[in-house]
Amino acid sequence: MNNKVTKTAYAKVNLALDVLGEREDGYHEVRMIMHNLSLADELTFTVGDELPKDAQVPILLTSNREDIPTDERNLAVRAVRLMYDAYDLHRPMEIYLQKYIPVEAGMAGGSTDAAAALHAVNDLYELGLSDGELAKIGLRIGADVPYCVYGKPALSEGIGEKLTFLKPLPDSIVLVAKPPISLSTAYIYTNLAPAKELTHPDIDGMLAALEKEDLKGICNRMSNVLETVSVAAYREIEAIKQTMMINHALGAIMTGSGPTVFGVFDDQAAAEKARDAILRLGIAQEVFLTRPI
Ligand code: ATP
Repeated sequence: MNNKVTKTAYAKVNLALDVLGEREDGYHEVRMIMHNLSLADELTFTVGDELPKDAQVPILLTSNREDIPTDERNLAVRAVRLMYDAYDLHRPMEIYLQKYIPVEAGMAGGSTDAAAALHAVNDLYELGLSDGELAKIGLRIGADVPYCVYGKPALSEGIGEKLTFLKPLPDSIVLVAKPPISLSTAYIYTNLAPAKELTHPDIDGMLAALEKEDLKGICNRMSNVLETVSVAAYREIEAIKQTMMINHALGAIMTGSGPTVFGVFDDQAAAEKARDAILRLGIAQEVFLTRPI
């Protein structure tokens, strides 16, 4: 058995995000197209020697970022603890999290770290669990975790747990820019208009365009209903979108509940120009040129 494994945890964006309504339990019924980007955290998991069965098993996390929790509130720690409890595991674990994905950004940073942790425990202990089994455990941590466990482009429905896998985005460049504002998911959903008043994204059209590998057809349909709340509250979001579009993005929208905006380009030089303009205008500082994967 190895005692150390390193995992790459990819960020996601929503190429389209629709809200179909609110369920009785308070969750929102969503329909989203999810895609991973090359932007990723890196996590190293190291286990020590087996402890006695009745001993408390420590799971210690350290990170280059000091503004995220390192205790059981950290989703990677929570994922390891769930696996330890479910499979009666007894070796202490140290996790080092090198964070590159912006935090509170709508890029599933915590969820993807949790998915990486599920895979890491599965590998280290040679448990032989399938992605489906890990996804089931992951759903207890958060609705985006199952998607992150598979890490493949997907249509996500229900509260995010029903996944249908899709063809990936055709070759392109994705520029990501997070403005320095904090948008709580609760604020966004509380202020969202009822589903029947929203203009819904053409998700079926996007699915057909993905199938045809029609990059322009996909980008023309990029849309996120949650922008109806965030753009009204923060003009930086619209400013970043406009800066990307002026610089020849094929499409530019907010991802998830924001505030990060991403633009899809078919031209590297245009994407670099857009990045430079955003930095020059000072509307975002966390800016990354990435590739869809
Ligand atoms: P989503 O797209 O799933 O809504 P997000 O990008 O908006 O996620 P995260 O970056 O996952 O949000 O962080 C949300 C909160 O979760 C943070 O404020 C942080 O305190 C907490 N958190 C727990 N674990 C992690 C982690 N591994 N990385 C980052 N944040 C974490």
